[in-house]
Amino acid sequence: MGMCETCHAGCCRSYAIPINGADVIRLERKSGLTFWEFACRWADPQGEIAGNYAPHFHFQDEPQTPFVICLRQVESKTHPGTQCCQFLQEGERTQEHPLGVSRCGMYQGRPAACRVFPTKYDVQNELPILHTIPEYGRTEQAPAYKLCPRQWAKEDVDPLAVAHELMIARYEVGFFKRIAEVWNRSPRPWELFPAFLRDVYARRIGTQEEIEQAEEAARRKQTPGTIKLYQPDQEKRDAA
Ligand code: SF4
Ligand code: SF4
Repeated sequence: MGMCETCHAGCCRSYAIPINGADVIRLERKSGLTFWEFACRWADPQGEIAGNYAPHFHFQDEPQTPFVICLRQVESKTHPGTQCCQFLQEGERTQEHPLGVSRCGMYQGRPAACRVFPTKYDVQNELPILHTIPEYGRTEQAPAYKLCPRQWAKEDVDPLAVAHELMIARYEVGFFKRIAEVWNRSPRPWELFPAFLRDVYARRIGTQEEIEQAEEAARRKQTPGTIKLYQPDQEKRDAA
């Protein structure tokens, strides 16, 4: 994306970036960091971070507070007093580039929310469209939080890549919302969350026999919002 190549990356500074479970697994693999080193939970009582995109999770220590799972932010090195994503590699501010040129240090493993920006689905949830980009990404109008130097045009994006990324994001976020439904039925401690995620995602693939067992178990339980997972030891789990 050409416009980004000379940008200070106001988008990576302005927004709390929601991550889904697949993002977590991919980031753990690509970065070599643990969940606790790149993820955090942001209290989101007004729903502004989640928007129509991310699910809310509740945890045992604060069951009334809705949280969104996000990337951690750190203090900017080149724009003191402002925040940025911890994966942002900040370039020095120069005469030619007064805000610096910054790049994603986790480009191959970046979360779905970063991959699809600045696109989203239309209201019918079918066709990709471009966001209208505001001048600043935060109400605090610091230069670091300035966004794109101009509005995005169709010619700036690859329609095939955009459609592909949006489709994956929709699938993964949909799956993550079902995980949230299950977790929120009996919120557990925040400390247990990454282990729970790893367990769920490890059981997304299995054999035909296992899926039939899982479907049969779900039918017997008739639990709304059940995540379809491969559970070879389902009978033992049910008996427990
Ligand atoms: S992961 Fe990369 S693209 Fe996403 S906010 Fe962080 S630095 Fe920006
Ligand atoms: S603020 Fe706009 S131009 Fe700059 S990196 Fe983000 S998407 Fe690209």
